[in-house]
Amino acid sequence: MIYLDNAATTKMFREALDSYIEVNEKFYGNTASINNYGKNNAKLLDASRRQIADILKVEQEKIYFTAGATESNNIAILGAAKHKKAFGNRIIVSKIEHPSVLETFRALEKEGFVLDYVSVDKMGRVDLVDLKRLLTKDTILLSVMQVNNVFGTIQPIAEIIEVLKDYPKVHFHVDGVQGVIKEEIDLSLIDSYSASAHKFHGPKGIGILYVKSRRTVNNVNYGGGQEDNLRSGTINLPSIVSMAKAMRLYSERIEEIKERHSVFKERIINELGSLKYLEINSPKDENFVDSIINISLPKIKGEAIINSLNEENVMVSTTSACSSKKFSVNEALYARGLSEENIKGSIRISLSYFTTSEDIDGFIKVFKDKYKQFEEVIESAI
Ligand code: PMP
Repeated sequence: MIYLDNAATTKMFREALDSYIEVNEKFYGNTASINNYGKNNAKLLDASRRQIADILKVEQEKIYFTAGATESNNIAILGAAKHKKAFGNRIIVSKIEHPSVLETFRALEKEGFVLDYVSVDKMGRVDLVDLKRLLTKDTILLSVMQVNNVFGTIQPIAEIIEVLKDYPKVHFHVDGVQGVIKEEIDLSLIDSYSASAHKFHGPKGIGILYVKSRRTVNNVNYGGGQEDNLRSGTINLPSIVSMAKAMRLYSERIEEIKERHSVFKERIINELGSLKYLEINSPKDENFVDSIINISLPKIKGEAIINSLNEENVMVSTTSACSSKKFSVNEALYARGLSEENIKGSIRISLSYFTTSEDIDGFIKVFKDKYKQFEEVIESAI
């Protein structure tokens, strides 16, 4: 199999999987128990939190563990809105956000908040002029992702922080799922940040929520009070230890990974970019990561391209795994102003640490072979 769907999820590092198994076998006690076994397990939890905090360059007290970025996004957005409710009722988000952010904002809108959508430019970057136009003294919440999951645009987080200096009341949340460890970000300048381990070769179902100031995010679920009462529920120690291991391994290899991905993206764009009808929605550009490449064909549905590549055991995806079933036209691509035809015929190729040069060559060969059939379909439809 050639697996190029790494923005959806990645294979675990062997060492991270070994840690997961080992902790399940040897440290299965509850970290909240006051018996000695529990206390020992709690030490392991502390060590993992410290390691993750060090890599993210923040204080360990500001790291909370969740069941993944969907939950982190929900807690941060709903919790900040609950805290700031008395100070204003306007909230801002862009339409290129992941559903775990976008739908949470829409839920707040139903509760009575006024929701403003900030526009993005052709590349999918948040439009700072539009952001300034939308910010008011009643605005209390803004969420912008670090890297887009559908086409890989890097958002201008530092510039947004500058704009927000005039609006200290605004809680600024960043969905860091596709950018964490991979792109630079100064977490001390944002209010909250989320990540999921399975995007950097850790286990699924475990995530991070960084919160700069706990008192600015009310808890939105209730239970035993774990994680400073921000995320109740028995601590998933095997997954946390495994996530810390994956994060360390990934961050140690980051330069090597980036260099390789740059070469791979260039090769894909050079080889496929010359095909007559093919459009590149993720150019080789400093505003895009190299690990997510969105391309498109007219007159053919993305699903048909996926099925055709499936026949040769090549795994890519349409737009995004979470939204592809739900929307007939991907909202994020639509927000960029791309044509409906382009969007319907788009696919996403996404790379990981495990992606090899042979994978890329194999994908290019299969795609070029299949393209002959695609071209016939396109020309008969024009
Ligand atoms: N945000 C972004 C940008 C994502 O790509 C994803 C995963 N597709 C999520 C949030 C949600 O992560 P999880 O499914 O691990 O909760």
